[in-house]
Order: sequence, then C-alpha cells, then structure tokens
Amino acid sequence: MADPVSPSVADSASESRLRPVPKDWIAAIHAYVPGKSTGTDGQSLIKLSANENPLGTSLLALAARLGQGQGAGDPARYPDPESHALRAGLGALHKIAPARIVMGTGSDELLNLAAQAFAGPGDEVLFVRYGFSVYEIASRRCGATPVIALDRDYAADVDVLLGCVTPRTRVVFIANPNNPTGSFLPRADLARLHAGLPGHVLLVVDQAYAEYLEADADDGALALALSTDNVLVTRTFSKIYGLAGERVGWATGAPALIDMLNRIRGPFNLTLTAQAAALAALDDQPFVEASRAQNLAERTRFAAAVGALGNHGLRPLPSEANFVLIEFSGALTAEAAYKGLMDQGFITRWLPGQGLPQCLRITIGTASDMDRVAAVLRQLAEAAR
Ligand SMILES: *Cc1c(COP(=O)(O)O)cnc(C)c1O
Repeated sequence: MADPVSPSVADSASESRLRPVPKDWIAAIHAYVPGKSTGTDGQSLIKLSANENPLGTSLLALAARLGQGQGAGDPARYPDPESHALRAGLGALHKIAPARIVMGTGSDELLNLAAQAFAGPGDEVLFVRYGFSVYEIASRRCGATPVIALDRDYAADVDVLLGCVTPRTRVVFIANPNNPTGSFLPRADLARLHAGLPGHVLLVVDQAYAEYLEADADDGALALALSTDNVLVTRTFSKIYGLAGERVGWATGAPALIDMLNRIRGPFNLTLTAQAAALAALDDQPFVEASRAQNLAERTRFAAAVGALGNHGLRPLPSEANFVLIEFSGALTAEAAYKGLMDQGFITRWLPGQGLPQCLRITIGTASDMDRVAAVLRQLAEAAR
C-alpha cells in the first residue's frame, strides 16, 4: 500500500506527483475486521465468528423479502425514505411514538451518525476497553479523540467510566450486553452512569443483544431514551432477527436527537427488501422467542462444558448475549484453540487486534455444533502441555 504524499514532499520531489491527502484522523483508522467464514486455505467453515442467528431467518421475513405476501415493492422505484410502515411496527411493539424512531443501514450507520452529530475535532468520545470496535472508528471518523476506560475483569466499571469524563467529553458509547465480552450492566448501574454524566454528554446505549435478555433483566435504557434528553438507544435486526445481510438498525431518543440523525442519514438508507423483510420479521415474534430460548439453553450448556475445563485454564466469562468469550490461561492458548477449532471445521473469533490475544469469542450455534466445539476444546486442552 502506498503512503499518501504530503504536499511538502510532493513540492520538493523532482517529479511533481500530487495526490489527495487524507485527513490525519481518517488515516489513523484501522478498518473494521469482520468475522471470517473461510479458513486460511479457503475451505468453508461453520461460522461462529459473527454472532449471527443459528436458526437463520424467520420464514415470514424470507417470504416478504422475495416479494410474496406483502411484497417488497417495485425495484424501479426508490424505497420509502422514511420507512413508515417499519417504524410504525417498531413503535407498536415497543410502545414508542414512531416519530421518535430513526432507521439506519444497520445500527452501524446510526452509531457513526451519533458520533458525527455530537462530536468533532477537539472533543472526546468515551467507551470501555474491550468494547465494540466500531466505537473507535466512529470517534475517529468525525475527528474526535477516542478515550478508553479500563474494565473490571473485562466488564464495564461505572466509576472508572465516570472518572474519564472531562469537559471535552461529548459522547459515551456503551454496548449492553457488551461485545466481545458478553458482560451486562444492570439497570441500577446504567442509571448511575447516566446520572453521573453532565446533561450535554450524549449516552449511546447499543442494545444489539437486548432481545436475548430475559424480560425482567431489562437495563432500563429504552425508558431513559424516552424520558431524558441525552440518551440514544440503538437496536438491530442483525442478531436475534436473523437479518444481518439486510442491514437494518434503528435508534430512539429525544426528538431533538432523532432530528439530528435524520438530517445526516442516507436519505434512502433502507432498501425495499430490507424494509419488507424487517417488517415481516417483527410480526414473527414466535421466531424471536424460539431464538432466545435456543440461545439461552445452548449458551448455558456450552458455558458449563467450558467451565468444566477450568483445571486446564479455560474460563468462560459470564455472558448475556449470543456468544461466550473464553479466557485461556493454561497450556492451551487461545491462538492454538482458534487454529485447532479451524482444523475441525469451525471458525471462531480470536481477538489479538482488540487487545485480547488470550481470548476466543465463540458464537452460540446449534446444539450439535456446540457439542462438537466443546468436545474439540476438551481434546485440545487435554493434549496441550
Ligand atoms: C453486531 C453488533 C451491532 C450490529 O451492527 P449492525 O450494523 O446493526 O449489523 C451493533 N453493536 C454491537 C455491539 C454489535 O455486536
């Protein structure tokens, strides 16, 4: 890859070749690394690296996407720029006025817009170490300075976060449950975080995995988004709804926040098929229930199987999401486990790039996949020395 040529270098070069110069803060970004689906030699593997739904997608959503049932619409026409039907459906399900909902091309678009609307050069954007890697990209993209709060045994620590707030802080991102750790900040802690922030600081609660929580475990973020001026909640259809490929996210918060995001989002940011599929997926709550139950059962079983390898230095961190982060501190390293699982046909997520070379994140798959993964981990741990 060629280095950009700064104007001064170009001027002094005998051959004057001018090239566009990227902004420093953009050049400092490390691109997001997506979960892989093939091994190093290109073989296709069972993908447990991107937290997708092992049950696939609701059949109703698949039908809507193909133009049966309600129909996805005429592709020669632009889609509804305001996703009216989908926002009405979300509003009805979550008891939120549709005017307070903004759609995004995945929640990724909304996380970036939140940073861009409320932070810029000279401002700080705060998030935890071992948080979602998009937050750092979103902070840098708008020229703001990322500030990283230390964790407490991989989980968010409210006091540490509040201690990192300065007069320059503009946005705080927190995923709850968090990715890649699976940790969860209970309602009282989230309320304390919000109460400790000055009113001009935007608290973005990324609830990509909220639907996996039991109903009584609600972190209270949606209620905060509806009752305060500085909380934005983001949600996605990529995880429990099984629509990662259609790129549908949404956010809710005070009308003034939603207004700003609407000004800068892509005007036609949800395709026809995305809107149709997401609306049908919303109507299939039995699929969501089945996905939640399957995840809870398999995550519980898998965490117990990994926990039984504690004498080999494997520790499953507590998870409220659809994956488990495993810490390796014995003879079997996370890297060796990653490679050993790949040899047996499973791609998982090893995270040295996120400061976690000692950890593997494994998405909860089908019962038979998880049995197999647990068995491979046991074999690898027993063989390691
Ligand atoms: C997967 C994930 C998302 C979802 O991103 P989309 O752009 O909606 O697919 C958002 N936040 C976190 C923490 C995630 O893990």
